[in-house]
Amino acid sequence: MNLLRSPWHIVFFVSFLIYLGIRSRYARQLRGVESVHRRVDGLEVFLLVLVIGTSVLLPVLYLFTPLLAFADYRLPAFAPWCGAVLMIPALWLFWRSHADLGRNWSATLELRKDHQLVTHGVYRLIRHPMYAAIFLFALAQAMLLSNWLAGWSAFVPFLLMYVLRTPREERMMCEHFGQAYQDYMQRTGRLFPRLIGSREKRQE
Ligand code: SAH
Repeated sequence: MNLLRSPWHIVFFVSFLIYLGIRSRYARQLRGVESVHRRVDGLEVFLLVLVIGTSVLLPVLYLFTPLLAFADYRLPAFAPWCGAVLMIPALWLFWRSHADLGRNWSATLELRKDHQLVTHGVYRLIRHPMYAAIFLFALAQAMLLSNWLAGWSAFVPFLLMYVLRTPREERMMCEHFGQAYQDYMQRTGRLFPRLIGSREKRQE
């Protein structure tokens, strides 16, 4: 079994289980929390199926069957070490963004009953810390699983989702929270903190 062929595969697998554990813990907490506005059209469903399908199915196929072995590649010896180290901030940020967003989180574009605009914790400097965490996790995955299909199965589809979904999510937030979200956009970056103009805005 490919899982036991390399300690890096085990590092990935354990990280993946922690990632899924964080998700399911916070998803369970949301049971029964009413949704008052959903923007789930064909594009959103396509993106969700693509991202969930590829990011779960391909690593599982790679780790438990020989089917994807034809797409293996070789990485320099230091790459999986970098991947393992990168997993630490990725999982931390993933956990913190779920904890800070609390009952305002959802897997799709939607607003909950009594939805609060979260601007504290990891949301203080960037607007999309959960997406940043997923990018970090996906990059770490590519360094731990040296296979074109399994290694990049999270990064490529998620990049597509990020590019297509984020402007729609921000438009929805602007429509609902108006000036409060626009001010929040002024003082934060999407994935990286704003360096210019943010300090003055935050002090106002
Ligand atoms: N894009 C954010 C959240 C992802 S979860 C991140 O990467 O951290 C997606 C849902 O979170 C959206 O449907 C929206 O309702 C909600 N959301 C996004 N930003 C929010 C914020 N600052 N405060 C409250 N809810 C938010």
